[in-house]
Amino acid sequence: MRSTGKTVTAKQAADLLASINSAALFVHTNPDGDAIGSAVALCLALRQLGKTVKIFCDMPVGNKITDSFEETREISAQFSGKFDLLVAVDCGDINRVGEFGGLYSNNRETLTLDHHGGEYYSKYNLVTHYASTCQIVYEIVRQLPVKVDARIATYLYMGLCTDTGNFSHNNTDKASFLMAADLCDGGADMEKINRIFFKDTSITETKLLGRAISHLRTFYDGKMALMYLTQADLKEFDADIGTTAGIVQNVINIDTARVGVMLTEYLPNTFKVSMRGKDFSVRDVCKEFGGGGHMYAAGCMISGFLEDVIEKIERVVGYSI
Ligand code: 5GP
Ligand code: MN
Repeated sequence: MRSTGKTVTAKQAADLLASINSAALFVHTNPDGDAIGSAVALCLALRQLGKTVKIFCDMPVGNKITDSFEETREISAQFSGKFDLLVAVDCGDINRVGEFGGLYSNNRETLTLDHHGGEYYSKYNLVTHYASTCQIVYEIVRQLPVKVDARIATYLYMGLCTDTGNFSHNNTDKASFLMAADLCDGGADMEKINRIFFKDTSITETKLLGRAISHLRTFYDGKMALMYLTQADLKEFDADIGTTAGIVQNVINIDTARVGVMLTEYLPNTFKVSMRGKDFSVRDVCKEFGGGGHMYAAGCMISGFLEDVIEKIERVVGYSI
């Protein structure tokens, strides 16, 4: 495994992308709006230049997104083809590339575009602390002879808007608003992005939220709050893991909570853990479990029985709360 690669600027990444004929783009497992928006926007931009581009994710993209955004339907969970360059998008470490991470171990041309400030696992790395990976893609695309059409603008807006929590998280800055203004000018469908990611709630999602709320537990005088959904809950409502993405916000919205934890048992005794923090580094907690993310929004996977998993998280949070 390559442990230290070279840092590249947006211009150098653009030159690299302009020089190749084909690229495979990888988005992280459990892909979110930023991962998908970044990859599709970059894919559409490179196709304008006549490149062959395919997007891969080791897990199917949720129906909510594929039903609403046509281009996401071609994201494939099966790797095939030969490519001049492999590009990991929004993946802070090699594990986030999921089962395709193994492709990075050979002496291949690889590029990372990411905003978690983490590992340099590619040959070329453009790793920032921007609010979203879409901001990185936006900078690259502007260095290329590409027209940012309404479709590209919409996908770039998808990542910008979702990773800033609709311009409400403390990572939102002047650059986010300037980019939004530019994308608005480019015809981004901002209403659609807002509706799909922040308003539209299916009956299933509403029922799941109710079930998760009924499982609310609090620790440390309410400074840590936790909700969970089991496999049985998901099966009862015929829900996929994408359906539970927004619930963690309800946990951290509890006024006393400095740590909000949402557990989703997406496979028997295997939990996707989503954490949010207020003035508290949930990244440090998630790192203890082999995960990562940002200071105030992070995640990991933990295997075990529900009560054991809860106890482990309670203990690690307890070190610093
Ligand atoms: P979410 O809770 O919305 O799934 O993820 C919040 C943040 O944590 C995102 O930036 C995401 O990329 C990161 N994250 C979520 N799960 C994992 C994980 O298992 N490993 C790592 N390294 N990061 C994660
Ligand atoms: Mn992101």
